[in-house]
Amino acid sequence: MKYFSSNFKLGILGGGQLGKMLLYNTRKFDIHTCVIDPSAQAPSKLACNEFFEGDLMDYDTVYNFGKKVDTLTFEIENVNIEALKALEKEGTNVYPSSKTLEKIQNKATQKLFYIDHNLPTAPFQRFAYTEEIYTAIEHSSIEFPFVWKSAQFGYDGNGVKVVRSNEDLKSLPNVECIAEELVPFKSELAVIVARNIQGDIKAYPVVEMEFHPEANQVEYVLCPARISEEISKKAEDIALKTSAAFDHVGLLAVELFLTQNDEILVNEVAPRPHNSGHQTIEASYTSQFEQHIRAILGMPLGSTENKLSGVMVNLVGSEGHHGDVVYENIEKIMEMDGVTPHLYGKKETRPFRKMGHVTIVHSNIYNARMIAEEVKKSIKVISK
Ligand code: ADP
Repeated sequence: MKYFSSNFKLGILGGGQLGKMLLYNTRKFDIHTCVIDPSAQAPSKLACNEFFEGDLMDYDTVYNFGKKVDTLTFEIENVNIEALKALEKEGTNVYPSSKTLEKIQNKATQKLFYIDHNLPTAPFQRFAYTEEIYTAIEHSSIEFPFVWKSAQFGYDGNGVKVVRSNEDLKSLPNVECIAEELVPFKSELAVIVARNIQGDIKAYPVVEMEFHPEANQVEYVLCPARISEEISKKAEDIALKTSAAFDHVGLLAVELFLTQNDEILVNEVAPRPHNSGHQTIEASYTSQFEQHIRAILGMPLGSTENKLSGVMVNLVGSEGHHGDVVYENIEKIMEMDGVTPHLYGKKETRPFRKMGHVTIVHSNIYNARMIAEEVKKSIKVISK
């Protein structure tokens, strides 16, 4: 293969923690990488071969960066799609493709895609502006409660709000959005699907995500999910069908709701390595990051099976702390068997900022979850 120890260059748009973890694998395989990120302190900076600073939404910046590399991928969805289209036309390999990204970048377009492809998803309505929702309420075409979602530029739940009254609507930005039925789900699941250029496809075991009630951020990821084989099969089938519908190349993280009637609904997808797959670094035969590299370069996919059960705990900045970060009690959690901390290398903490994660591996998922709780109680991300 032409990629290893060669002149081949892989470009990555975005230099955050996902990029950093991708780079562990390009280093392992001796693949030359170029990374671009708006921040000079990007976590990926130290692990790539060439680093560039630039705005990922700017056409010229993305186009010029793309011209320097043979294959281009991304670790963040908010990048300039027109530039990706131009690069594809001129022969640069872009994976996942601009076509996939275009369908995903806008939540309204993404939801319509599920409807068009017969993929189960919560009912919704699309609005050009939030203020149009008032009229829909007056005409009873929409009822409280519902979930408001900004069509673009939301991440980690910051573009999502449960709306129970007109009062709740007032605080929301007046942007393109969707109003979705509130799903009283039993749990949130996710399946990461890997599909390579040749169309070989593999799914990781279904994971269960537990959310922080206020921040709307994933707090724990459990792999495998504590669900029946039947539900697990249903979730996997829907995830595989979703990846195939997108004709996806690379990783596709499919976030799902398990309803009270044990139905599976697709919530949203991410066309890249995902928070719900971090435990794969320690718990799986092939980490999601290695798998993404394999998929976009057309290599054989690695095994997606678990070596052990794994739980991931997100390390986010404690409330009330801003500034230079300190990981309090990190030695204490490192004394526990099967516990590995990952620190992303961000110098400054702020409330709920993702600063790192901890993986717990164990032969039993219930024990792993108990240790995860101990980890969560012990370690604190605070400022000096
Ligand atoms: P983001 O892109 O910011 O991650 P999501 O669409 O995944 O946004 O929503 C974030 C979280 O909000 C979900 O993980 C879930 O906990 C909650 N949520 C989203 N949509 C619904 C819904 N229709 N019903 C109930 N809860 C929802």
